[in-house]
Amino acid sequence: MTTVQCLPQVRDFLSREHGLFLDGEWVSSSGQERISVFDPATGEPIASIADATAKDVDRAVASAKRAFDSGVWRLMRPGERERILLRLADLVERDAEILAQLETLEQGKSIVLSRIVEAGGAQSWIRYVAGLSTKITGQSLDVSIPLPPDARYTTYTSKEPIGVVAGIVPWNFPLAIGVWKVLPALAAGCSVVAKPSEVTPLTLLKLAELASEAGVPDGVFNVVTGLGAVAGDALVRHPDVAKVSFTGSTPVGKRIARVCADRLVRASLELGGKNPAIVLADADPARVVAGLTLAGFLNQGQVCAACSRVYIEAPLFDRVAEGLRDVIAGMRIGPGMDEAAQINPLVSAMQQKKVRAFVDGAVERGAEVVFGQEVPDTSGFYVRPALVLNPDDAIPLVREEVFGPVMTLTRVADAAEALARANDTPFGLAASVWTTSLAAAMDMPPLMQAGTVWVNSHVMIDPNMPFGGVKESGMGRDFGTGWLDAFTETKTICIRH
Ligand code: NAD
Repeated sequence: MTTVQCLPQVRDFLSREHGLFLDGEWVSSSGQERISVFDPATGEPIASIADATAKDVDRAVASAKRAFDSGVWRLMRPGERERILLRLADLVERDAEILAQLETLEQGKSIVLSRIVEAGGAQSWIRYVAGLSTKITGQSLDVSIPLPPDARYTTYTSKEPIGVVAGIVPWNFPLAIGVWKVLPALAAGCSVVAKPSEVTPLTLLKLAELASEAGVPDGVFNVVTGLGAVAGDALVRHPDVAKVSFTGSTPVGKRIARVCADRLVRASLELGGKNPAIVLADADPARVVAGLTLAGFLNQGQVCAACSRVYIEAPLFDRVAEGLRDVIAGMRIGPGMDEAAQINPLVSAMQQKKVRAFVDGAVERGAEVVFGQEVPDTSGFYVRPALVLNPDDAIPLVREEVFGPVMTLTRVADAAEALARANDTPFGLAASVWTTSLAAAMDMPPLMQAGTVWVNSHVMIDPNMPFGGVKESGMGRDFGTGWLDAFTETKTICIRH
């Protein structure tokens, strides 16, 4: 076992009196309140952040608007913007271990995952999006209506940055998703006010500091920390915010959509999921067990695309269920800083209570539950990994997003039954199908109601693969070559010769 020792730079960052990052410098909040940040492995406070007020949000948006209006960033040559963002990726690489440790300490996830998905993912996504800065193009257009022969026009479109963007970030992948909410807006030439989750604010604060070091001009990337209902709400309502890029829960996403509809501003909403996997009888059971272990238990199931419901054709049900039962029985439970621990604490006491209530509710409703090992006897926010066998489709654990290390396994007669039950949900973020049949691999994805469908894989994401939900899992797509369209307006220019 290797328990990772906290770096001195991490201890130093934790002990700071964190303020807000506005106009390229740390400033105090106008309010007196502080919010504690807890280590999920111990339940102890490890840092504190400013609880921003609506007045602080005004200052942050004013700073972003000043920077936008000045043209210091939006009128910079795209190649220069790209170079600065690539330098930011290099700084994230330089400080990768500091960022990874901060992430594990505030969020609870395995240090191995923090290195690969948070610090490593941040670099991949920043480099991809930096390259998009130089690929923003308009179109040249011909006029098609009948005109006199001497009436000649040249028309074309250009893409202009939309303005000040509010980037609102959840707690499950605070650094990686922080990058998704901020970097494409920067690549498009926008200025940003970002708000991390109050539960996991530290790595986004560090990212803003690194962006400044990389050469992002003052006021272009600001961070306010604080509560969603106060700072987040003030941000989405602010008249100078031109676009909201939000990742988080469906109820909060709906609230934000209503505010944005009233203001007629655009919102990209990446929301919750209740993602099914369909296992057909011809699938390779060993691959299914390995794939679903990752899909269901990575980051303790606190993954928007996590597989939480598995529908298995009858001939393979017992083998897959036994395989997963063995896996969770052998899973070592411990703090994220222990590299060998496979199940770590959940992010907060509130999340721990919520997940336990879902499982207790399933037991009360008669579901058969198979648990993994007992959790350590500490005040950390642990829950036992669990499999719920053949539950009633109507119970909350099957209907709602649990966001914990809990997976339901359901025996079905055939693919048609699996599809009907998999699609019977208000969500539509992601899904997977497991099969060795080429015909099924081709035929099933169009029938599955989800923004992403994997075959023989689950939770595979890449900056080049558009990602987002249908139904109540959201509106819009992150990633891909079209990503910057969400942060630009199309202008048509029509010149009469
Ligand atoms: P949440 O909706 O509670 O909070 C997300 C962010 O919104 C936080 O920063 C919070 O402070 C802020 N917020 C809360 N109320 C607000 C309001 N009224 N106005 C403005 N901002 C407000 O979500 P969470 O619990 O932090 O994260 C987990 C959720 O995120 C899950 O539902 C998960 O599925 C979802 N998620 C989705 C994706 C995706 O790509 N679709 C990715 C990761 C997480």
